[in-house]
Amino acid sequence: VWGRVKNVCKQNGLLILSVLAVVIGCLLGFFLRGKQLSEQEVKYFQFPGELLMRMLKMLILPLVVSSNMFPANLVQATFQQYRTQRVPELIPKPTVAQLLDETTTRRVYIYGIQDDNGTDVQNFSLDLTPPPDVIMKTSPGTSEGMNVLGIVIFSATMGIMLGRMGPNGSALVNFCQSLNEAVLKIVAIVIWYFPFGIVFLVAGKILEMDDPSAMGKKLGFYAITVVMGLVLHGLFILPAMYFFITKKSPIVYIRGILQALLISLATSSSSATLPITFKCLLENNHIDRRIIRFVLPVGATINMDGTALYEAVAAIFIAQVNNYELDFGQIITISITATAASIGAAGIPQAGLVTMVIVLTSVGLPTDDITLIIAVDWALDRFRTMVNVMGDALATGIMAHICRKDFVKEGEQVRECKNPS
Ligand code: ASP
Repeated sequence: VWGRVKNVCKQNGLLILSVLAVVIGCLLGFFLRGKQLSEQEVKYFQFPGELLMRMLKMLILPLVVSSNMFPANLVQATFQQYRTQRVPELIPKPTVAQLLDETTTRRVYIYGIQDDNGTDVQNFSLDLTPPPDVIMKTSPGTSEGMNVLGIVIFSATMGIMLGRMGPNGSALVNFCQSLNEAVLKIVAIVIWYFPFGIVFLVAGKILEMDDPSAMGKKLGFYAITVVMGLVLHGLFILPAMYFFITKKSPIVYIRGILQALLISLATSSSSATLPITFKCLLENNHIDRRIIRFVLPVGATINMDGTALYEAVAAIFIAQVNNYELDFGQIITISITATAASIGAAGIPQAGLVTMVIVLTSVGLPTDDITLIIAVDWALDRFRTMVNVMGDALATGIMAHICRKDFVKEGEQVRECKNPS
């Protein structure tokens, strides 16, 4: 039994530490609330959590740029090869150089593409074992001057152009590759700071929030409605969509992303969670990394099911508080604008609260009333972020399923090489 416990701890060490961190953070936060800390003291106390957010922020730009520019180029070059060579097959070379970097436990296999006559037409290396923690980018800083979606699209376009340029573009491609590897190494270190940072992030938030007893009954019902909607969407609708399209078990898939869901609960930011979602999809759910690299950052920026749901419920709540009767047309308007507003929201804490203005204005509700829901927003934000992350992850799985034919060649090689026998 001890051996099994040790094994589970070893495999899920970070997940276990993160759960503990959330629990300890809550206990510590509520304990310190009784101590009447000064504003200054609270600020100092929050510092380790703030440091975590800043570390993530620091990584976002180099990682998004390098991870999108490099693969876009590779994918493009590979497709080009497929177009120009009639029977392109990815053949693992018998003598394959299997470079094993002991420090990162990362394997690089050299592949050859052969034509009909078995002549090598191209060799390239495929990085099969992902670095332990592919991580990534983030967020709170994102809205303060970084347009992740714009960067993804720009980098992907650059990558495609570099692919077309052939050898002339190789200097920049090598640069991106090195940058990507360096960032991933930093990420592998930062990830171990997560549990520590989470304790202070969660506790700091609890210290900051308004007196919970000040929450009215109405606000309580509003919060329960949002949470029920999120549960329904996250636990039934999204998994059902995944199941109907892929015919695979959503339970197994969701189990693979548990760690990411937990981190989203702790950080309230889908962008900050991106590195972990990336890692979970790659290592636990075995999704093709080329699909993850594109779908996840785009999803974390524009696909926010939880935020859309919450914004619609919040607008209806504000209407009810104001005794404003909404007709059917207005409810439809709210649903549509809430979806649009969620696309506009950045993947950072409480961004949805800001874009609520769009929804309220669309049906003529007082935008000042956003203040009514601020008291509970910090908590609801965590749940809706979880649903946002789950939506992105399941969408990546669905995309991988839809594209399985295009990407099957690499997938087959990956399986073969992981089990060489
Ligand atoms: N915090 C959410 C996210 O990062 C956005 C929101 O405020 O709804 O996904």
